[in-house]
Amino acid sequence: MLEIKNVKKSFGKQEVLKDVSLRVEKGDVIVILGPSGSGKTTLLRSLAFLEKADGGVMMLGDKSLDMHNASSKDIAWVRKRTAFVFQNYNLFANKTALENVMLGLTAGRGMKKDEAERIARKALRDVGLEDRMDYYPSRLSGGQQQRVGIARAMAVKPDVIFFDEPTSALDPELVGGVLSVMKKLAEDGVTMIVVTHEMKFAREAASKVIFMDGGVIVEEGDPETVFTHPKEARTRKFLRRIL
Ligand code: ATP
Repeated sequence: MLEIKNVKKSFGKQEVLKDVSLRVEKGDVIVILGPSGSGKTTLLRSLAFLEKADGGVMMLGDKSLDMHNASSKDIAWVRKRTAFVFQNYNLFANKTALENVMLGLTAGRGMKKDEAERIARKALRDVGLEDRMDYYPSRLSGGQQQRVGIARAMAVKPDVIFFDEPTSALDPELVGGVLSVMKKLAEDGVTMIVVTHEMKFAREAASKVIFMDGGVIVEEGDPETVFTHPKEARTRKFLRRIL
């Protein structure tokens, strides 16, 4: 469904992604783990074309794109089929929760306002915010703001949703609510690629865990295998520290 081959990215002299290849099937929940600075966020942002890779190919649906030289038309095509959930929510402060979700549908997808409002209301109900639709972000908790971010991503029914450390800016007591919304999405068969340090989520929801270090995928497999019988010394060392 989504495949990338040989993705490279450097910032100045620092090689952050070194020939990363990855295949994602429909309904997969891929969790990307790894130490700080290993390239997880850069990989996710490159997949979403928020960052321009120095090289690599992406196959999405029946299209193949050069990740370094993609045209703005091709980038718009990918953006229509994907959605991104940011660590810091990235909501418009001067729009209500409902308006934030609607914007992805009207401005992002050219949908009529009535239809967009119906879909946005349903998405906000699905993330448990039926009583907060008309609130501005400043009056919502971090967990509620992130659930608006997830509703905005779900509402456009993308082929895949990218999550970049969606709970790491939250107070501990707000993490559970966001993770349970994400687990529900996973159970509903939504294809997700998630950078997170939440091991419990990885164990319970991932179809595949990827361990990155130093800009390469060191190890990948089902969560049970990676957590219980990691093959690589670097994975074992990381897991010992974090579990
Ligand atoms: P963390 O878990 O701490 O978020 P990460 O695995 O997601 O780390 P990245 O954010 O992808 O790692 O960063 C990988 C490396 O690239 C880091 O050394 C970082 O400093 C560097 N880097 C990331 N973005 C930029 C940028 N815009 N300009 C320069 N260097 C960058």
